[in-house]
Amino acid sequence: MSGDGGSGPAGRGGGRDPDADAGSGAGTETETGVGDPRSRDLLRVRDLSTRFFTQEGQVNAVESVDLTVRDGEVLGIVGESGSGKSVTALSLIDLVESPGRVTDGEVWYRDPDLAGEFPAASDGDYVDLRRVPERVRRALRGPSFSTVFQDPMSSFNPSITVGEQIAEAVEVQRRARSNPRSTRSRTQGYGLGQFLLDSVVPGRDYADEASHERAVELLEQVGIPDPGERAEEYPHEFSGGMLQRAMIAQALAGEPDLLIADEPTTALDVTIQAQILELLRDLQEERGMSVVLITHDLGVIARMCDRVAVMYAGEIVERGTLADVFDRPTHPYTEGLLGSIPDLADPAPRLRPIEGNVPSLLGEEMGDRCYFADRCPKAMYECLSHPPEYDAAGSGEHAARCVLADHEYDPAEALPGGYFGGESGDPTADADPGGDDRAGPPADRRTKNAPREGGDGD
Ligand code: SF4
Repeated sequence: MSGDGGSGPAGRGGGRDPDADAGSGAGTETETGVGDPRSRDLLRVRDLSTRFFTQEGQVNAVESVDLTVRDGEVLGIVGESGSGKSVTALSLIDLVESPGRVTDGEVWYRDPDLAGEFPAASDGDYVDLRRVPERVRRALRGPSFSTVFQDPMSSFNPSITVGEQIAEAVEVQRRARSNPRSTRSRTQGYGLGQFLLDSVVPGRDYADEASHERAVELLEQVGIPDPGERAEEYPHEFSGGMLQRAMIAQALAGEPDLLIADEPTTALDVTIQAQILELLRDLQEERGMSVVLITHDLGVIARMCDRVAVMYAGEIVERGTLADVFDRPTHPYTEGLLGSIPDLADPAPRLRPIEGNVPSLLGEEMGDRCYFADRCPKAMYECLSHPPEYDAAGSGEHAARCVLADHEYDPAEALPGGYFGGESGDPTADADPGGDDRAGPPADRRTKNAPREGGDGD
């Protein structure tokens, strides 16, 4: 996508020139923000892959993902459960746990100071976080990146008051600023024994008075009434919505450049969802923060996001502005997602679900075809080769990993129904339209768009 660098090989099938858009490494700095023409790239992710090494085999959870997050924008990542959204987010901030591991890729973060400190891992103002020491990446969590998770009840420690936990987040950031090696909070490893000890030995506060005051301020900023009193309460005394607000307050403690919100409203009822989204949007605009919003809910995307990346089977299969993806969907998976939400203005008698299930991500079972082919109503013989990412009609931001971005569907080339042992494919298609044994795309296929050279664009 214009304005996004490209580094590293592209996904299978349509190798992109690493430097096509961006020069080497982090790429040339761009000023192509969607909302603000002066906005710049804060984060450039290139060819990021994450694997889980399980007893069943290698799971390719994230596959050659390229994306860019710009200053002050909300980037939505949408897809079904199991599409790789959350693992992508965890990979960005180095929070993937064993047996998972980020195996490839670059995560370029704009930080001139850090770039100066690690010249071997830098390119201009950008530094590749995968090439700096682990302690540095850890120290960036809080002041640079922060996260809001789906279930606040399981994210807070039930034996410490909410205010104390937020104060600790403030305190950790304060201590880390004076000593970058000190990033461990007291709540890490805090258990029953420590709780009992703290109960009988007074004056063991980890956070100082100023951090407590800041915690109350943060609770007030996220709309908690009587923040001073609520700060003294335990997580079980908060409602789900209030606790999600408290988690957002905690995430803001380090005043991050980038907030990653992973399904932040999924566990909440509809009215509270709307309030939390509004709060997130207000905070994002007030602070000029960038936000990566992960959700399976296209309604949330439509309400919140500037740009969208649609994920399927660990890959980004379509990307673009909100208008590109909602008004000109190109990938049949995106069309399927849009077709499966009710339209109140034009209620159809039945919703159109996407048939089938997300595929196994076991490396040995994935093959080298389009991963959506077994569910795609427009699968053709050429889809038995993994498609590259093509430019798609719309803004210069729009791209899709689908041959339909390049040329129209040809029923004569359709895979017959049941080709994969299910109901996929065009059921009207002849099982062998050409009378020959096809195993790949026709050699004389003419294309109207060249495959994109290099990763994202996004
Ligand atoms: S048309 Fe082909 S490439 Fe596009 S989504 Fe369907 S199977 Fe994949």
